[in-house]
Amino acid sequence: MSKQQASLLVQGYEVVIGFETHAQLSTNSKIFSRAPVAFGAEPNTQACAVDLALPGTLPVMNRGAVERAIQFGLAVGSHVAERSIFARKNYFYPDLPKGYQISQFEIPVVQGGEVSFFLGDEKKTVRLVRAHLEEDAGKSLHEDFHGLSGIDLNRAGTPLLEIVTEPDIRSSAEAVAYAKELHKIVTWIGICDGNMQEGSFRCDANVSVRKPGAALGTRREIKNLNSFKFMQQAIDFEVLWQIDRIEDGYEIEQATVLFDPDTGETRAMRTKEDAADYRYFPDPDLPPLMIERDWVERVRADMPELPRVQAERFVADYGLPEYDATTLTQSPAMGAYFEAAAKLSGQAKLVSNWIMGELSRRLNAGEIEIAASPVSGAQLAALVARIADGTISNNAGKQVMDALWAGEVIEGEPQAQVDALIESKGLKQMNDSGALEAIIDEVLAANEKNIAEYRAGKDKAFNALVGQVMKASKGKANPGQVNELLKARLG
Ligand code: ADP
Ligand code: MG
Repeated sequence: MSKQQASLLVQGYEVVIGFETHAQLSTNSKIFSRAPVAFGAEPNTQACAVDLALPGTLPVMNRGAVERAIQFGLAVGSHVAERSIFARKNYFYPDLPKGYQISQFEIPVVQGGEVSFFLGDEKKTVRLVRAHLEEDAGKSLHEDFHGLSGIDLNRAGTPLLEIVTEPDIRSSAEAVAYAKELHKIVTWIGICDGNMQEGSFRCDANVSVRKPGAALGTRREIKNLNSFKFMQQAIDFEVLWQIDRIEDGYEIEQATVLFDPDTGETRAMRTKEDAADYRYFPDPDLPPLMIERDWVERVRADMPELPRVQAERFVADYGLPEYDATTLTQSPAMGAYFEAAAKLSGQAKLVSNWIMGELSRRLNAGEIEIAASPVSGAQLAALVARIADGTISNNAGKQVMDALWAGEVIEGEPQAQVDALIESKGLKQMNDSGALEAIIDEVLAANEKNIAEYRAGKDKAFNALVGQVMKASKGKANPGQVNELLKARLG
């Protein structure tokens, strides 16, 4: 065990986690019928006879759902099966009137693959077992029914891709980082809208603990973690609960548990079924799913550059730190915005700082997507260019940003717009060393005490002098230049 792994131990136990994620595929219609999948419709207005498997109906595979599964497989380096099989998973529940869910069991459409991400400086890779197509069930509604429960079947037949990992995850932090990376991949390639509140991206975490080197412990499965914050809390609670149980001499019983955000605790819902309990068998109504290689190649040709690949390219091509590259590849729009501004200005790191800082702050406050940013990439490039060439200070740059954000611009090219703003607001930095020397003379004459303190070794006194000069110049002196000139004058 490496030092890194040893540092992950919790009270001497190694944490082992495997994820099962249900990503709702962004098709317009159901996986085996033409009923719509729009969220939030009146109950029971969007389930047709096929979704309920009424006698005489037959399911027909939605080609769009298969195409999205292929896209996912290519994005994570999986094998896309030439031939996969739909199976019936049999169980009884009120929200599943047909008594079985159509899923894939022995031969799934997507096999193997991996998801990599950074946790601090450490690169982590989680292997995928599989991803399979299946239909969602309906929903039980327990509110507002005067003590009765209602069933809404709108969700029945909604296409899902269930993505299953090997038990490769070793902490709650890794679990969250994995889930975030997976979320980024499915939204980036556009196969899922990623809306966790609406249940479009639902994670189940299988958690066990063991002494280092021992066989895998018995797992408990935490269901339906629908926020990254709850995910971390739920796993942390579960890990400590299991360790306590074991230390108290009990054995962990395989179970399905729910996380209660109000108490911060996980609670057993049912003892966990085994695959045998579901009496899986191939669905006689659906032929094997055949995927010709041409189709896979056509999908491959249309795949966008993936976030991790783009991040690595930003590091290699623009010399960005890994942290910046990861932050800037949150969405295709953000990556494109950065790259356009970096190319125009030739100042990749400065552009990155401005996107991650001033621009993001404004976008977040207004809940605006970067694609709809009031400040264009070309305008940011023009602004950053004037900081880089010393025309304005970083602080003055913020005033220019405010004006750009508010749309206070003249007609014309972005550089002309920015230059006009700098001119009209009088933001030009004082780069004339003669004028600056004169200010420094005045400040030194009036601050003998600071000079004496500086000579006695107090750095604070020097900073006070820099501050005085900046103030006397009305903020227009170049702080770097002030530093140099003052040091030279004071010896
Ligand atoms: P099931 O058929 O009950 O869903 P799987 O074998 O498909 O079980 O595993 C489901 C998930 O649980 C996978 O992500 C797998 O990596 C994970 N898993 C399996 N065993 C363990 C374990 N001992 N500890 C933690 N996770 C585990
Ligand atoms: Mg499973």
